[in-house]
Amino acid sequence: MSNSSKPVILIGAGMAGLACATWLHRAGRPVLVLEATDAVGGRVRTDLTPDGFRLDRGFQVLLTNYPEARRIFDYGALRLKAFRSGAVIRLADGQETTLQNPLQRPLAAFSALTSPIGTLTDKLRILSLVRHVLKHTPEELLARPATDTITFLQHYGWSEQMINSFFKPFFGGVFLDRELTTASNFFEFVFQQFVTGEAAVPALGMQQLPEQLAARLPAGTVRLNTSVAGLVDGTQVRLTSGEVLNGAAVVLATDGLAALRLLAGRSGNADDLASAQAASFSTAARITTCTYFATQGGHSPGRNDKLLRLNAAPGALAHNVAFPADVSGAYAPAGRALVSVSTHGERGLSETEITAGVHEELVTWFGPAARQWEHLRSYRIPAALPVYLAGQPAQQPLKLTDTLYRCGDWAAYPSLNAALATGREVAEAIIKA
Ligand SMILES: Cc1cc2nc3c(=O)[nH]c(=O)nc-3n(C[C@H](O)[C@H](O)[C@H](O)COP(=O)(O)OP(=O)(O)OC[C@H]3O[C@@H](n4cnc5c(N)ncnc54)[C@H](O)[C@@H]3O)c2cc1C
Repeated sequence: MSNSSKPVILIGAGMAGLACATWLHRAGRPVLVLEATDAVGGRVRTDLTPDGFRLDRGFQVLLTNYPEARRIFDYGALRLKAFRSGAVIRLADGQETTLQNPLQRPLAAFSALTSPIGTLTDKLRILSLVRHVLKHTPEELLARPATDTITFLQHYGWSEQMINSFFKPFFGGVFLDRELTTASNFFEFVFQQFVTGEAAVPALGMQQLPEQLAARLPAGTVRLNTSVAGLVDGTQVRLTSGEVLNGAAVVLATDGLAALRLLAGRSGNADDLASAQAASFSTAARITTCTYFATQGGHSPGRNDKLLRLNAAPGALAHNVAFPADVSGAYAPAGRALVSVSTHGERGLSETEITAGVHEELVTWFGPAARQWEHLRSYRIPAALPVYLAGQPAQQPLKLTDTLYRCGDWAAYPSLNAALATGREVAEAIIKA
């Protein structure tokens, strides 16, 4: 078998692995995708409950202007449903304020009579940041020198009140990092994406994204329930079943920790480039817990306004609340509404304690009817996003040896866009090699 007639072996059918497989297949290269679990998607999965609720494994949205998403997805076939731009913010004193289009029409949003958030200077600074990000391409923003986001916001001159009531709840939810220690170049990129696009979900749940990519590959390309136990050499992998597969090249499209384990177990290559780079891989990750409830009646506590609820109260467990069925009716059976609550970070509480604590907060927030809401399921995701700090390159080397590559958000920055982009770039490197 010549090298280009052997398949490129991809380990992992998350967004990065599927993007890489898509571009390789389009270029006529045979591919084989090995996925340890029972479905494609990695961190982008949706469970359908027996009662007909669609539960994304963690609250997650696609920002529709992501350059890589626009390149690869058929948005029409996904039937994307967008949240309204903005949020209802619950302030520390329990008052609620609604911001519509705060990044797209900052003066109107923050100047609304009901908005106690931000001084006039704060609002003008948002306008100035909007102008700044619109002058740059996404790639330019990601390449900018960075500090941590909180320092960036303070240096930009926003008031503490604006930071605590708007930036921390909003971007802390995006980064799963309430303290905003995430690098500011990534903040600028995400800010631009919110200014220029929408936050959306496919009508039938987030897993439709990976399913769309997998459906374009020839039958048999993706092998589910197939876990790779080790890398034998640059072109061979050994499955947990003991089977050894030989490819033209191997792509690590796993999460960072799994990649590190596979590289660390590589036989006889202790000093090579891959091992050296493995030592510098960061596997630190952001944690989140998503708790789902169902209301007893069809009336949505979100009043069908399609706005995200953000909690600015310090110490709260319910950081963001969303009502996905207000955005796409297919998320809940007729006559019920779905409530998705995200709690970010490690709180030192058991899942039962988080569920109980969140439920109590929802009663205070949405009134006594919330006591009757049925707890459906909780998802604790210990490695939801790789930690991305100032000083980390927005793209690390993807080629580890002549025949071994890596892709995924952990090789760049914590976003679907990074997973898709690194997947494409690895495909291009293999095609060129
Ligand atoms: C709760 C949550 C919210 C998020 N919100 C957003 C958001 O709003 N917007 C956004 O842009 N991004 C968001 N993200 C991030 C986004 O989901 C990820 O960046 C992206 O899905 C990462 O894809 P990946 O392919 O790099 O990795 P993964 O999705 O982790 O895929 C890796 C795959 O490798 C498989 N694998 C691992 N080890 C092996 C092995 N030994 N053999 C075979 N297969 C293996 C795994 O099973 C998995 O399928 C969120 C993530 C989470 C969890």
